[in-house]
This record gives sequence, structure tokens and C-alpha cells, in this order.
Amino acid sequence: MKTLKIAIQKSGRLNEKSVELLKNCGLNFENYKSSLISPVSNFPLEILFLRDDDIPEYVQDGIADLGIVGENVIQETEVKVSYLQRLGFGKCSLKIAVPNNTGIESIGQLNGRSIATTYPVILGKFLKEQNIVADIRTISGSVEISPGLGLSDAICDLVSTGGTLKSNGLKPFADVMSSEAVLIGRAGSENEDLIQELIQRIQSVLRAKE
Ligand code: ATP
Ligand code: ZN
Repeated sequence: MKTLKIAIQKSGRLNEKSVELLKNCGLNFENYKSSLISPVSNFPLEILFLRDDDIPEYVQDGIADLGIVGENVIQETEVKVSYLQRLGFGKCSLKIAVPNNTGIESIGQLNGRSIATTYPVILGKFLKEQNIVADIRTISGSVEISPGLGLSDAICDLVSTGGTLKSNGLKPFADVMSSEAVLIGRAGSENEDLIQELIQRIQSVLRAKE
């Protein structure tokens, strides 16, 4: 029998809940954070601990059979994977935010402005749908300080409580997408039986939480 592989975030916002979900499914494994792979002792499964950004491609390319990752990362990487189950954690929204004292009042006023983001693909599609031509400035992090530094007129970033926006003098302005952690897989994968068994265990854990 083949051993399945599931990719989860190594450390960060989704790590703890992903580990908890798998443990609640009755899977026994060590939560090694220094090792990339952890075998499950009571199910033919190995856990791969990865950076979240790499998870969609690992699943698309067949290196992992399954993955747990935010929808935002899947949309941004534009991979072909199947959504198997929404997981109800890691909820957040990708929002455009502007400085509190800005003159930008309507979405149309973003025309000709600059927007800093780590999500250029998703933002680009959103602006196109809205018929807005803006200058997308792709940066790799700390997006929220960019207007204060004079690097951009607005930002597009993930928000959960809004606390980070507030402490940087920004206010939410437009919703681009909402996201949560999802279980992903690949169409036509081998070992469909094992995958189905795992999905069923995950679904009963989720039902028990309702
Ligand atoms: P990695 O080191 O794995 O690349 P990261 O820094 O890209 O980690 P995290 O900040 O740990 O990622 O966020 C992981 C995911 O958690 C996000 O992609 C998103 O789906 C979700 N999330 C939930 N709330 C928030 C939030 N307030 N800010 C950012 N991400 C959030
Ligand atoms: Zn990441």
C-alpha cells in the first residue's frame, strides 16, 4: 500500500490548527518542527512541514497528495488543485486599506494610485474587474507601513481583526476576497480510498465541533 503525504504549514498562523485537526482525526505523529517529514504511526500517511507558499505547487505536482493551506495562497499561486473541504480556521479577508486622512473615498479614486501588496495576482484581477488602472507595487512583507513611508497610496493585505491596520493609521476600504484554510488535493490521484477515509475522518471532527 502506498503511503499518502499531506503538506501542512511548518510554522505560522495555520500550523497549530492543522496539527490539532490531524491529531483529532486519531493520527499519531510527532510534531517535529525541525524535520520536514513526520511519519504517522497508525495510518499510512506522512506529514510534510512546509512554508505555506509552497503547498499548492507540491500538491499540484504530486509530491504531496493533500495539503492544508489558505485559499488566498491557492488563488495567488494560480495552481490547478481541487478543493476537498473547507476547514473553518485561518479565517481572514484580503482588503484594500487607505490612510485615515486620505482623500480616497470611492473605489474609482484608486485610478492612477499606487497600491502595495504581497498579493499582486489577486489584486490585479480584482482591479481589472472593477475597471481600475492602478500601479501595483509588489513587496514581500510589512505592507502596512508602506503608505506611511510614502511608498504607496494604499495597501492590499490580509486582515483578521483589523488591529494592525488601525495601529498603522489605516482603514479598511474595499474587500477583495475572504479566505479560510482548506484541504486541497489533485483530481485523479491514486489511493483514492485512503484519501476518502482521511476526508471522512476530517469531516466527522468538523461536525463534532459544530
Ligand atoms: P510561511 O512562513 O509559511 O510562508 P506566512 O508568513 O506566509 O508563513 P502566516 O502569516 O503564518 O503566513 O499566515 C498563514 C495564513 O494564515 C495566511 O495565508 C492566511 O490564509 C491565514 N491568516 C489568517 N489570519 C491572518 C492574518 N491576520 N494575517 C495574515 N494571514 C492570516
Ligand atoms: Zn507564506
